[in-house]
Amino acid sequence: MNAKGHNLFNRLARALWGLQRSRLQKRGFRESLATDAWSAEDIRRHFDRRLVEIVRDAAQNIPFYRRLYREAGVEVASFSGVADMHRLPAIDRHDLLESGDQMVRSKRSKLFTVAHTTGGSTGTVATMISRRGVSCLEMGCVYALWSRMGVRPNDHKVTLRGALLDQGRKLHVREEGGRRLTISTYHLRDDNVDEIIRLIDEFRPDWLHVYPSAASQLANIMKRTGKRLGCQIKGVLCGSENVYDWQVELFAEVFGGITYSHYGHGEMAILGGWCKDTRKFHFLPHHGYLELLDDDGKLITEPGVTGEMTATGFMDDIMPLIRYRTGDYGAWDEPGPCPACGRAHQRMARIDGRIQEYLILADGTRFPLTNINALHGTFFSLIYRFQFVQDKPGKATLRFMPAVEINDEGMAAIRNAFAYLPEIGLALEFRQVEEISLTRAGKQRVVVNSEYLPEAERTGA
Ligand SMILES: [Zn+2]
Repeated sequence: MNAKGHNLFNRLARALWGLQRSRLQKRGFRESLATDAWSAEDIRRHFDRRLVEIVRDAAQNIPFYRRLYREAGVEVASFSGVADMHRLPAIDRHDLLESGDQMVRSKRSKLFTVAHTTGGSTGTVATMISRRGVSCLEMGCVYALWSRMGVRPNDHKVTLRGALLDQGRKLHVREEGGRRLTISTYHLRDDNVDEIIRLIDEFRPDWLHVYPSAASQLANIMKRTGKRLGCQIKGVLCGSENVYDWQVELFAEVFGGITYSHYGHGEMAILGGWCKDTRKFHFLPHHGYLELLDDDGKLITEPGVTGEMTATGFMDDIMPLIRYRTGDYGAWDEPGPCPACGRAHQRMARIDGRIQEYLILADGTRFPLTNINALHGTFFSLIYRFQFVQDKPGKATLRFMPAVEINDEGMAAIRNAFAYLPEIGLALEFRQVEEISLTRAGKQRVVVNSEYLPEAERTGA
């Protein structure tokens, strides 16, 4: 092929792939919405059918599972679905890191697969291989969740999601044919607030699409400086990080509109989101199957009991995850269909987030950060970010990046905002710091071990 022909071929291939992406996104959207009408029996039948297909296929075609099931003595031929899941060993991130290449379907074409990495936020980056286009399917599913709040695909969004634009030199960039304005979360400072508000007002977004930590930071700056958006947004779409009740209150107060949150993860095995009238996570049954396991690997079925979210994904057959311990924790809601929307989807009352998002009290109790409520003090008006450093139970250091000079009165307000923690078994020290670093993806860890801190921030932490 000559250069001209080659060029034409590339353009044609790109155009066809563009069509295919859009087709997959629409399919994800349509299939997700269809599950709204599924009864509990429909869902159970679907789980049984897909689990049997996936487990048999994995045992036959994927070296890792073939060995895992053989060594555990699992009789795959008699595996019947949900009722037999406990017979399968659970796997976790270590398996991805150590045996990732054995977890991929042996017969596959490079043309139809794509590699991506997950887990930069926990410091261990694992490579996943997926069928090309799975992320488009996933995006369609996310739009189906968002459509519960009236989000349409062509709506304009401002993104505050840990973007490092042009290596930190740029404040903003327009994407997706002008439908998305991304603002660098590394520029969220008091002295940039006028320009950021001007950018948002000129763009007139329908939605803010955010990491809750980044949106909180902007909201706090606006609160402190007395600035408000001139445009009226429909709401705040949260993802990738846990959203706490105090944040929902803060967003309503500062930005107006509704707040919505969904749970997904880089491995794309399960996906769930709030319904219109509850802050409970409803998991899409065609996307994956969710279990909660305790520390001994036993199944948790009672509502309200904290367990590790363990996922079996239905979307990708190239590197399937079967009983994958996600490292995220939460608790089931009451059994039965959702009283608010009637959906029979698997439903969690709360997701506490990563194991790092607990403080460990003196008696070993895990205190989820969902219970932290410091909004009603002046704490947030004084700081940019805060982070707990905890190395042993019952003791932690609260590091905070001051946004203003903190006088004695300010320090007293900060101590006061967390005064309930010593009472329940956590001795707290306070330390002003110049920087609290974000993860590679621009997210913020709220509780860390001191070993996690970069060298420059470690001294005295
Ligand atoms: Zn509901």
